[in-house]
Amino acid sequence: MQKSSTFWVFWMSLAFTVVANADTTVDVAGLCQKIVQKLHSVSLEECQSFDFDTHKMTSVLNMPLLMKELKGAANKEVPKVLFIAGIHGDEYTSVSATFKWLKMLEQHHSGKFHWLFLPLANPDGLLRDTPQRMNEHGVDLNRNFPPQGQDSPSFAFWRAKDLKDPRRYPGPFPVSEPETKAIMAVIDTFKPDVIVSVHAPYDLLDFDGKAFAPEQLGPLKLKLLGTYPGSLGNYAWLKLNIPVITLELPHAGIMPSKSDIHDIWEDLVFWLKHEHPKIKSAQLKASSAS
Ligand SMILES: [Zn+2]
Repeated sequence: MQKSSTFWVFWMSLAFTVVANADTTVDVAGLCQKIVQKLHSVSLEECQSFDFDTHKMTSVLNMPLLMKELKGAANKEVPKVLFIAGIHGDEYTSVSATFKWLKMLEQHHSGKFHWLFLPLANPDGLLRDTPQRMNEHGVDLNRNFPPQGQDSPSFAFWRAKDLKDPRRYPGPFPVSEPETKAIMAVIDTFKPDVIVSVHAPYDLLDFDGKAFAPEQLGPLKLKLLGTYPGSLGNYAWLKLNIPVITLELPHAGIMPSKSDIHDIWEDLVFWLKHEHPKIKSAQLKASSAS
């Protein structure tokens, strides 16, 4: 396991390489004020209570990319889970529900997992007068990751299959956006065993990975959507061998009930506890075979 001093030195260097020349004009407190104007189910007190860090990672408009780490029990190698929400700026519930899960976790953190939360990966998309799926450059960040396969399959796929839908524009080239770079740097540094990605409004559960998919988490049932070139699931699973659970909440603007939020979390933690050893052994086999 990485020593914490090395970890922090890395984060500091990351801050200066990923966002060189960034002039952050809004601090975390200022961002919380903007968030609560958009998300009525999040209070200013709640947002500020998380004591978010950012490691100076920022969006196109220099908004901080919020980050919260809850470490596992000391001296124990515990599963690492990266939780990402709000990569699409118009899926409000993905951010609001993630704040609720983060609050539950803070109250009941047992140290059995090492968590890293990015609750709002696309702040510029959310905070516009009219929130949008894409980032400030009009890029769908969930199509901007390095694609598996030939030269520019994300762009070719967008032209052929998405019929040049501007909401799914993959960007001028893979990893063109600072938000994508930041998420990739977090994955590279944190080295999660599993990634949980929160979206809306398809009311299902998707999974990028070989086996061991959860059948149901709370009311969300497994329905495999397939992978898209340049998506986070495509990148993390096909290129890095990290399974990705995608939670698609039923509505982008209406929060799931408190009991559904609770049940999704309970089932997710249960699944992680039971399936993590199998995921780990599959990853070890894959890395020794490559
Ligand atoms: Zn989405």
